[in-house]
Amino acid sequence: MNLLWYRNDLRIHSHRALQQALERDEPVIAVYFLCEQQWDNHDVAPLRRWYVLQSLLELGDALAERGVDLHVLDAGDFAAVPGLLADFVGEHGIERLFCSREYPLNELNRDRAVAQALEPLGVQITGFDDSVLVPPRTLNTGKGTPYTVFSAFKKRWDVWLDSHFEPVAALPAAGAGNGRFVGKGGVESALKKMTVPDSLTRHWQPGEAAALKQLDDFAEHHLAGYRKHRDFPSQPATSALSAALSAGTLSPASCYRAATLAMADAGARDGAACWIGELAWRDFYRQIMARFPRVSRGGAFRPETELLQWSQDPDLFQAWCEGRTGYPLVDAAMRQLVATGWMHNRLRMVTAMFLSKHLWLDWRLGERFFMQHLIDGDFAANNGGWQWSASSGTDAVPYFRVFNPVRQSQRFDAQGEFIARWVPALRELDNKTVHEPWKQPLLAPDYPPPVVPHAGVRERVTEAFKAAKAQY
Ligand code: FAD
Repeated sequence: MNLLWYRNDLRIHSHRALQQALERDEPVIAVYFLCEQQWDNHDVAPLRRWYVLQSLLELGDALAERGVDLHVLDAGDFAAVPGLLADFVGEHGIERLFCSREYPLNELNRDRAVAQALEPLGVQITGFDDSVLVPPRTLNTGKGTPYTVFSAFKKRWDVWLDSHFEPVAALPAAGAGNGRFVGKGGVESALKKMTVPDSLTRHWQPGEAAALKQLDDFAEHHLAGYRKHRDFPSQPATSALSAALSAGTLSPASCYRAATLAMADAGARDGAACWIGELAWRDFYRQIMARFPRVSRGGAFRPETELLQWSQDPDLFQAWCEGRTGYPLVDAAMRQLVATGWMHNRLRMVTAMFLSKHLWLDWRLGERFFMQHLIDGDFAANNGGWQWSASSGTDAVPYFRVFNPVRQSQRFDAQGEFIARWVPALRELDNKTVHEPWKQPLLAPDYPPPVVPHAGVRERVTEAFKAAKAQY
């Protein structure tokens, strides 16, 4: 008997582990461990939990149609998984276990403990690197060290994929559609216990079928214009597939394949190439996480930045969380996050840089708040994005990047459409005043003045970083 252990790969298409397990022409069953305490300990947003559980329900039905039983077992947290899995293996006479590899530290430790628990039982474990396009330990610099600069990583990543990428083979023909879904009631009751308002869930469609359709729609309607429009948050120009990619209802291989196929059309080539670059960022941060374990322990990628003395101002943090900083683009973005569970990439950079540079608050506070709200909350991408923005990470510029929140607003939301959508108090302002409402306070009496001035931020930040470096 073969066992498929599902984790963050909740799909049946483009799934090497499932494909290989079914290919053997022997009975296959699947298992998923519900780890709600693990979610609690890692600040996983209720909306993301809802997305995962709903996708799991769809997965159970899809597997049943193929004659594969899915067992969902309540483990609480990762510590219980090795024991439960060893019992399960014994009960069901499992000889081979197939799974997609995961790279965060806790997941690696869990998998090591599982390997130890199953070894005496003689179970053969086979892992596949399906959650990335290039496995994290594949690419090295000429010195044999991991890449820490994205542009150099991306060059090698492109070359490697050109010669190694292979789409996952189609699944063998479906068997008798009578698989069982054991533990479905547990998933349904976990969902019932949750209090995620419709106002949040209505923005999202969980599951594999919706993710595939969304990818098709994006490739057909938005990919060609991606490079040109992707930085403008008022436009639906990006794929919004991050939740699907992080829960694995969609594979990065499906995305890469869709983009490379689109490149056959000269008009879509540039947009598709640019989008592939985002998939490279995703792999880049996964290899940073896998090869620099200190980031998984809450540490800075650049150790010298641990010496920075962050401010501890709960009122400033609260203003940021609630979108009351007095900077319209920052506030609109934070309100979008809380109201929808997602934020546009440009705005993630703007708000993260604002928290760490303007408010001088520890980036870990913002990283945590994002995880508590994002439907796509993903440790590697979130930590990578936060550390990049706070200049404690992999940003390669030789100075400390500080976005001016007003300039960002004027450039990327020139007409103030995005701001108007999320900050009603600014709706009536013209496209000049909307970026700096404090210049006409009588026109927006309900909107707060800036909580901190922009002037002087760059100098203060540069000085503090230089001092930390000198002290290190
Ligand atoms: P698209 O533009 O359509 O890109 C396609 C896919 O590429 C995305 O779905 C995502 O999987 C990947 N991707 C795109 N940009 C990046 C990037 N900079 N880093 C890593 N992967 C990327 N992404 C997450 O998936 N989860 C997070 O928790 C997360 N937190 C972030 C926090 C900060 C401070 C920053 C600056 C970025 C963060 N990102 C995160 C990256 C990025 O903002 C989102 O992936 C993107 O906005 C999702 O929208 P999309 O699916 O429309 O992306």
